[in-house]
Amino acid sequence: MLDLYSFIADVADFPEPGIVFKDITPLLANSEAFLQAIEEMAAPFLKNDIDIVVGIESRGFLLAGSIAERIGAGVGLVRKPGKLPRKTISVTYDLEYGTDSLEIHEDAFASGANVLIVDDVLATGGTLAASNELIAKAGGRVVGATMLIELSALEGRARFDGRLHAVLTY
Ligand code: AMP
Repeated sequence: MLDLYSFIADVADFPEPGIVFKDITPLLANSEAFLQAIEEMAAPFLKNDIDIVVGIESRGFLLAGSIAERIGAGVGLVRKPGKLPRKTISVTYDLEYGTDSLEIHEDAFASGANVLIVDDVLATGGTLAASNELIAKAGGRVVGATMLIELSALEGRARFDGRLHAVLTY
């Protein structure tokens, strides 16, 4: 087993002063580390009859595709506004300053589908909470969420009342 922490690069003051950005590209670039990360993200949800693994733009997409293959599910996309070509459902959520929105195709999955949410980093939990709301609005049943990294000091976990798994915790 590899120490996956050693494949995460901390980048100070990116994209703005005061933020320590967790860069996962060294992990993605190493085939063994990437495979182990996918296995560890998927493991708790292998027996949950997941129909769709929904990745959050954009690094979530990379992880969602491989997790879906591992679990035997399809893939769905949660994207920033204006990126999805067909009819969408959207949610707007508060940021530290202002608001942001996320969208999903209204027919991204069948009504009642079992959905697993995937992203690279859980920070304040705003993105996860909005995605959870979006999937519920689209008729999905959120089984849980799996993250590569959780920044525990930001307490994002408190904003999600489902099963939440994180492989690396800071
Ligand atoms: P939040 O909504 O605050 O939980 O932020 C989560 C989203 O922002 C995820 O899609 C992450 O990719 C990104 N993000 C937030 N903080 C960081 C960080 N320190 N390093 C890398 N990505 C981050």
